[in-house]
Amino acid sequence: TGRLYLVPTPIGNLDDMTFRAIKVLKEVDLICAEDTRHTRQLLNHFEITTKAISFHEHNTEQRLPELVARLKQGENLAQCSDAGMPSISDPGKELVAACVKEGIPVVPLPGANAALTALIASGLSPQPFYFYGFLERKHQQQVTELTALRNRGETMIFYEAPHRLAKTLTTMAEVFGEERQAVLARELTKRYEEFERGSLAELVAWAKEGVRGEFVVMVAGNDHPQEDEQRPSGTPLEQIQAAVD
Ligand code: SAM
Repeated sequence: TGRLYLVPTPIGNLDDMTFRAIKVLKEVDLICAEDTRHTRQLLNHFEITTKAISFHEHNTEQRLPELVARLKQGENLAQCSDAGMPSISDPGKELVAACVKEGIPVVPLPGANAALTALIASGLSPQPFYFYGFLERKHQQQVTELTALRNRGETMIFYEAPHRLAKTLTTMAEVFGEERQAVLARELTKRYEEFERGSLAELVAWAKEGVRGEFVVMVAGNDHPQEDEQRPSGTPLEQIQAAVD
């Protein structure tokens, strides 16, 4: 059988591409890309001429049998996403699971990843940490998700889209408390890379002035969970409802 290579790509700065990533992308028979047009630009930059096909959340089921068959026939495949590590809040996990199930070797390459890059410069405790990825978009679902995290002691790492940042930080302040410390890592590896550190209340105020770019949100763990257990979460109406229930 062939092998499935998981190949990270830069999260902004093209110099973060690794020599091994280039070598593997040149040598494999086929590249499975989240977005072929996006990946083609990267491949062109590094003069990689390997064929690329799309593999994303909307065609996973349709593509899987074909890709597994190719691997079984001895072809080597590489999986790439638009940025960073495949499978981390990105397509890839179904293909990995299928390979593991079929006994096809999966070879991960180290490289760019927004979460860990943000964490090591955050100044928050780097371990233990809890990687969450994206929260749900709806307010009420976010409240439920965050409430389940409220007493965790680990540093928590979230991904969020810029146009939802202020709202999500507001919900975090509501659930975790305004004083909880947090760090925003903006535009990592790019020209306007920047870290904003402070309480959730301060970061909400900062974000409400308008933000652009990509963000990793990190929230300090809860260092006094007992006190917080007494504190109700949710809107006043929800608190009354919870008390009645
Ligand atoms: N697979 C990627 C990884 O390994 O980091 C993550 C892909 S996910 C679809 C995209 C999210 O990652 C963005 O919404 C943002 O939260 C975060 N992100 C990606 N690149 C970033 C950057 N250069 N600076 C800050 N955050 C970034």
